[in-house]
Amino acid sequence: MVNELLGAGVLGAAGAFAAYWHLKFRHVLPMESRLRSSQKSFADFTSFTRETMERAYAPEQPEHYGDITNYYLIKLHKAFPDSSMLLFEKGEGQWKLVNYLKHFKVEPKLLTAYKWSAFDRSSAEGELLRFDDVRAGDYHGMEELFSVFDVKSALMCPFKPAGGAPERLIVFGAPVPSSFDAAQPYLRFVALQLSSISKVSDKIFTLKKETDHLKNEVNAVVKELDVAGSRLIQRARERKALYEVVTKVTGPGGNDSQNGCGAILNIVAKMVEADVVACLLFDDAKGELVVSPGSYGIPDSERMLYSIPVSNHASASVRTFLSRKPFITADAQNDPDVLTRYAKLWEIHSLMIVPISLHDRIIGVMRVGSRRQDFFTPDQLEFLTIIADELAIIIEMVTLYENLSKTAQELAQLNKIKDEFLATVSHELKTPLTTIKGFVSVILSGEVGPLNEQQLNFLTVTDQSVNRLTHLISNLLDLSRLNGKVELEFQKVDLADLVKSSVSTMLLKAREKNVSITNELAKGLPPVHADTRWIGQVVDNLLINAIKYAGAGASVKVTGTDKGEAVVVCVEDNGPGIPLEEQKMVFDKFYRGKSSANQVPGTGLGLAISKSVVEKHGGKIWVESKPGKGSRFCFALPVAKTK
Ligand code: ADP
Repeated sequence: MVNELLGAGVLGAAGAFAAYWHLKFRHVLPMESRLRSSQKSFADFTSFTRETMERAYAPEQPEHYGDITNYYLIKLHKAFPDSSMLLFEKGEGQWKLVNYLKHFKVEPKLLTAYKWSAFDRSSAEGELLRFDDVRAGDYHGMEELFSVFDVKSALMCPFKPAGGAPERLIVFGAPVPSSFDAAQPYLRFVALQLSSISKVSDKIFTLKKETDHLKNEVNAVVKELDVAGSRLIQRARERKALYEVVTKVTGPGGNDSQNGCGAILNIVAKMVEADVVACLLFDDAKGELVVSPGSYGIPDSERMLYSIPVSNHASASVRTFLSRKPFITADAQNDPDVLTRYAKLWEIHSLMIVPISLHDRIIGVMRVGSRRQDFFTPDQLEFLTIIADELAIIIEMVTLYENLSKTAQELAQLNKIKDEFLATVSHELKTPLTTIKGFVSVILSGEVGPLNEQQLNFLTVTDQSVNRLTHLISNLLDLSRLNGKVELEFQKVDLADLVKSSVSTMLLKAREKNVSITNELAKGLPPVHADTRWIGQVVDNLLINAIKYAGAGASVKVTGTDKGEAVVVCVEDNGPGIPLEEQKMVFDKFYRGKSSANQVPGTGLGLAISKSVVEKHGGKIWVESKPGKGSRFCFALPVAKTK
């Protein structure tokens, strides 16, 4: 039993063993082998995808998209070295062979474009298309290519690059389709990758294009800003130049031809970087445009050569003068519209000419030249037209000033002649008058015999006339001395003494006219620095006038006040006074008051002499008067400095 049991056990174990090995060899081992192979395939595919994804990048330029496609083809070929990779691109109804991967000993000569319905079908479906035997279908035209690459089976993988780029297609070819199952995920992955990369790249291209476009726009704006900026700077410089010109015109020295016109032409030259700037003014008498003094860049010797008759219409300056239209040329030496003579003389190429008008009257033109060609701009021409207006004002001022100074010079000359004449005549008259006066006095005294009444009367009138004439001549001589180089003998003078002596001399005259004089000079006045003779004459003049004009019964008062730096002496009367409009003129030479001219004898020189004397002392003289109430003549003299 035991043996039976043992026998049955042995048999049973042997059966199980056999069954185990049967299972192992028939099922488990092949499954394990398939599992390993599948694991390897999976690992290969994973490493392929990882590697390619790591290296993948989105090209920034369309040309580089080809490089990345080639990279994928190479990787594919490496993964399936026995296969051939052919890359096609669709164009004009055909498929162009753009790349292939297979190692040839000698490179074959291949057609570049192919037509095969399978390509179109695969591309239309957008899916992998598998041909285990390419010859099974209609592949007319592909025989030669496929035989060169030994392609009998083919997997077609289409993909569409983005942005309207031509469709592409990879042909994975092999003599037999054994690797097709394995290759399919690779191809799908590659097609997907290439399409995605293309999409990203396309976005990058568009962004880049937009960026470039924006960059260009920004550059253009920056450029415009630059231009606007430099224009602003130019405008600011022009404003500054204009300001300088206006300051020259209105400021001191603006009426000087050298400082005025010349300075403006200098500013213009600097402002527009010109080599020659000249003003051509119209000379009415000659009928010519003549260059004026103060021009810039033209030597005086050559300036004289520069004049153009206004009949010469070939001259651009004449045309600008006649039409009042500004003119500009880039090359005056070769411009038929310009008289090239002057352009050549001063080696000018660029030239601007603007009219100079004053109150709608054209008076000339301004010519601005540069030795450089095409140098001036229309903006500068506009700027010049503004400057020309300012220039016109200064030219008018210069002309007026020249005329005025000419007249002033002539007047001064005439005045000098008159003074010399008066001095000579007065001097010549004085000697015979002294003789006449001497003889008349002797005859009147009766020393040379008795006179009848008529003779006495006639001689008395003659004596008075001689006195008047002597007075006039001595006044004239005084005036001419004061106008000339009279030497004053300055010394410390006590005005109280001086006034006292003057008053006492005048007392007799005053009594004759029934006029009272009072001396009210304050005591202790500081001494003044003066010439006694001349200041005594001033006090005499004022006292004589007061006695003369105040009239009978009037009273005259002399006062003196210490004003610190000066002493003021006043001679006051309660006579008829002086009308307001005459008060300004009483110190003028030969001026005589309207009411006094015919009634009171006089020369009109007393106050003029007094004014001149006081001013020569560094003092002042003035009148205060209320008509009907009297007059008050005052003078102030500086106090003598104590050392
Ligand atoms: P003359 O006395 O010889 O006319 P003056 O130069 O001394 O010349 O005076 C000028 C004029 O001033 C006088 O003609 C007179 O009209 C006026 N005048 C001067 N002094 C007085 C005065 N005290 N009162 C009124 N008028 C005066």
